[in-house]
Amino acid sequence: MPNNIRVTVWNEYRHEKKDAEIAKIYPDGIHNAIAKALRTHPHLEVRTATLDELEHGLTDEVLANTDVLTWWGHMAHGDVRNEIVDKVQQRVLNGMGLIVLHSGHFSKIFRRLMGTECSLKWREIGEKHRLWVTAPGHPIVEGLGEYFEIPHCEMYGEYFDIPQPDELVFISWFQGGEVFRSGCCFYRGRGKIFYFQPGHETFPIYHQPEVLQVIANAVRWAAPVKIVGFREMAQCPNIPEPMEVITLEE
Ligand code: ZN
Repeated sequence: MPNNIRVTVWNEYRHEKKDAEIAKIYPDGIHNAIAKALRTHPHLEVRTATLDELEHGLTDEVLANTDVLTWWGHMAHGDVRNEIVDKVQQRVLNGMGLIVLHSGHFSKIFRRLMGTECSLKWREIGEKHRLWVTAPGHPIVEGLGEYFEIPHCEMYGEYFDIPQPDELVFISWFQGGEVFRSGCCFYRGRGKIFYFQPGHETFPIYHQPEVLQVIANAVRWAAPVKIVGFREMAQCPNIPEPMEVITLEE
């Protein structure tokens, strides 16, 4: 019996409160659409957190008890306090998984962990989007076919200013002609990060089964690996005594 994976679904939760059209698509917020879908999967223990809660809902206690954090933000990246970003970064380096969704490409935490601008090109006319699987052996594509499509979405196009992903799981084609690395895995310290493009707030993308399946798969993939006695990544210990008995030349 595997241990439960403790997931915190984080959402900026501003668009849904300000725009009636968006609230119609996500009446309980994007976070609750994602959390509801994740709760249908066995062995996932799901909670939500939002920007306007105390410490953005990411208190030390919440972070210490989160195995995988999912992140959706767009209009208020600048309102996320740097001290919270520092704490999330440390948790990722020490094993917490991070799933960055859609416009989260410009979040402080993603840019911090990538070390690049994470800029891209975009267009919002509701065109068709086809995501091709480029890593058919990867656990994140479990249950999918060769590709899947999103009927109406926001285009994100290359060049996407990220480091070369450690694993590229999806490449996207958009009806207007652009392509995009839309499913990217990165390893940082002990932590795993997955960037996944789908999810614009004015389209019902977090109601689409394939998208929700990928997020659930990514949560499982990004869950921390149990490893005994590993140091905190911020430590840099001096080891004056070698493990082996050695004789140094005079
Ligand atoms: Zn968008």
